[in-house]
Amino acid sequence: MPLVSAVPDRPLVPDWLAAPKDANALAAGVWPASAHRDDQGVLEVAGVSVAQLRDTYGTPLYVIDEDAVRARAREVRRAFDAAAARHGTRARVYYAGKAFLSTEVVRWVTGEGLAVDVATAGELAVALAAGADPARIGLHGNNKSVAELTQAVEIGIGSVVLDSPIELERLAAIAERRGAVQSVSVRVNSGVHAETHDFLATAHEDQKFGFALTDAAAAVARIRELPSLRFVGLHCHIGSQIFGTAGFEESAGRLVELHAELLAGGEIPVLNLGGGFGIAYTSADTPTPIEQLADGIVDAVARECDVRGIPMPNLAFEPGRTIIGRAGITLYEVGTVKPVQVSDDLTRLYVSVDGGMSDNARPALYGAQYSARVVSRTSSAEPALARVVGRHCESGDIVVDAEYLPADITPGDLVGVPATGAYCYSLASNYNFVPRPPVIAVRGGAARVIVRGETIDDLLARDAGVSTEELA
Ligand SMILES: *Cc1c(COP(=O)(O)O)cnc(C)c1O
Repeated sequence: MPLVSAVPDRPLVPDWLAAPKDANALAAGVWPASAHRDDQGVLEVAGVSVAQLRDTYGTPLYVIDEDAVRARAREVRRAFDAAAARHGTRARVYYAGKAFLSTEVVRWVTGEGLAVDVATAGELAVALAAGADPARIGLHGNNKSVAELTQAVEIGIGSVVLDSPIELERLAAIAERRGAVQSVSVRVNSGVHAETHDFLATAHEDQKFGFALTDAAAAVARIRELPSLRFVGLHCHIGSQIFGTAGFEESAGRLVELHAELLAGGEIPVLNLGGGFGIAYTSADTPTPIEQLADGIVDAVARECDVRGIPMPNLAFEPGRTIIGRAGITLYEVGTVKPVQVSDDLTRLYVSVDGGMSDNARPALYGAQYSARVVSRTSSAEPALARVVGRHCESGDIVVDAEYLPADITPGDLVGVPATGAYCYSLASNYNFVPRPPVIAVRGGAARVIVRGETIDDLLARDAGVSTEELA
């Protein structure tokens, strides 16, 4: 572990972070739209007070605004529908389940007209338990097991996204033995890799997913030879937390060129451009509105099709984060507050909360930035530079790397971290044998458990050396 800062190569205070005029204010576009403070200054989400949530469920706690997820799912679907309709075609939106998966959430998004993407038997089990239509499920992954591929064929899954020549042959054999014809798409490594503001376009991208652009045509030719497989189209996914359309447009150009060549060998109903649309984690993030993204990407595909004189295919997209990210917040209770002198003229308040990298791995995993507020009260104290840290035995166990919080923040205060709906619960672990928190859905002033919290007994139950009597 580095000696000076837990996060190397970063200034002590990030340049985008300014001391706020009001350290109680909730940044627009970061918190759920329903979030506001009541007369006492306590945060309410979807009409439910966080003080009441703490009293009922304890902390740490994942809270999800159901209507926010539903509204966003509708908004995203309508944006792509409208953009596609302007070019006389259709768009299907798959919810990328890995962002956050539970049966409730699957029901919300499928209820709003989305299809679902899964990548493992476990994710598939959740989607099926929620009653998702197998014909509207896509199966991804670079190393799907024989058992997973077999189950996919047997339940009549909508499409399997092929990732390698070995998998292509494996799936063909499985489908043939069952007398089935499985629809497949081919994941192409477009050489475009995007991350937030920048994208990189290379001839050969050095990563594990998909077929190289130069190998995809041979894979498609092979699929077309095999009676047990039906080629439905090309797929690519260029990254995650992407702002702007440039990366998508570059990648769409490369994909449409290949799509046009492959049309010579037969029809291709769909072009799938993946997900990756960014959200705001802090007030410094300014994601592109979804209508603008949808129009920009779909217009780019239309231009590329026009140039080549080919018809517009149906389109598919796979957003995860942008559907559920902003709808979720995490509540923690402050346990200790410790000023640490980090340079001659800078003191940082280390605020330790009762969760950490076990409920939000993203800061430790990717250096992800979040924001935070004291949500159990307002304060008129001066804003102080703070770092919200977890309770785990790692100095990289950071929840919010840099934020201004009221200088009088104290044990017992509740801290809320917004924009934790995606890739927090799904990446949670039991590090240090900390039980994973429950997930609470809030809607119209009511709260309910959609995933119960783990108990110490849950953790002991898998240890073969613990007798069942001890657990009872
Ligand atoms: C993760 C993933 C997505 C969703 O990415 P988001 O950034 O959450 O929108 C879509 N498609 C594929 C293939 C993925 O792996």
